[in-house]
Amino acid sequence: MSYNIAVDGPAGAGKSTISKAVAKKLGFIYVDTGAMYRAIALYFLEHPGNMADGQALEKSLENIQVQIQYEAGAQRVILNSQDVTEKLRKEEVGNMASRISAKGAVRKKLLSLQRGLAASADVVMDGRDIGTTVLPDADVKIYLTAGAHVRASRRYLELTQKGETADIQQIEQDIRKRDEQDMHREISPLRQAEDAVLVDSSDMSIPEVIDRIVAIYREKTGQEDSDGSIVG
Ligand code: C5P
Repeated sequence: MSYNIAVDGPAGAGKSTISKAVAKKLGFIYVDTGAMYRAIALYFLEHPGNMADGQALEKSLENIQVQIQYEAGAQRVILNSQDVTEKLRKEEVGNMASRISAKGAVRKKLLSLQRGLAASADVVMDGRDIGTTVLPDADVKIYLTAGAHVRASRRYLELTQKGETADIQQIEQDIRKRDEQDMHREISPLRQAEDAVLVDSSDMSIPEVIDRIVAIYREKTGQEDSDGSIVG
């Protein structure tokens, strides 16, 4: 049996940074489900027009193959045999991902890929509906959030540190719009699962959030770290 940790929360809450670090600490695999939606979004950005109506969208989805590979422990996303990992973090891709992820056919396409990965290994999986829909029986569920302004500032730093130009007001506006779309869509909206632990990272450092989640994991499962030390 594999251990599953589900981490959900709004855009820019630090899910990927934190989940990656928790996975490393516990010797788990990190699964970034947002990157899967981003890969499909990239396809539609490169093939505009194909999502005009439901039927056209479903037809296009037949031409899309998303695969996940791991290289030195890091997730790579393969879209139709091409490694597109480096193209996925752009804001326009995230905004398109939020649009297309509201479509049932898109969500259905990725569900078995996500569940298959969680069944085959110990994973920390992050997204919007992991604790509510993808892995309802996850051993640990975390709802990681922070204020919208804090999240926008973090995203701004992430982009500018990579040398990209960014407008913080635009980022905050985009984040609020994505939250609105992700929380109010009909299928698998973003919400805290009843049995999820709320972690508000607004006033916490990254190591504090990591330690908190590892401690929650240990409390819930009675497990030790991969190096044998008791964590918490
Ligand atoms: O987490 P990330 O910003 O990469 O996600 C991009 C978009 O993909 C989100 O805004 C959300 O609309 C969608 N998504 C989702 N369900 C997930 C993961 C991401 O709907 N499990």
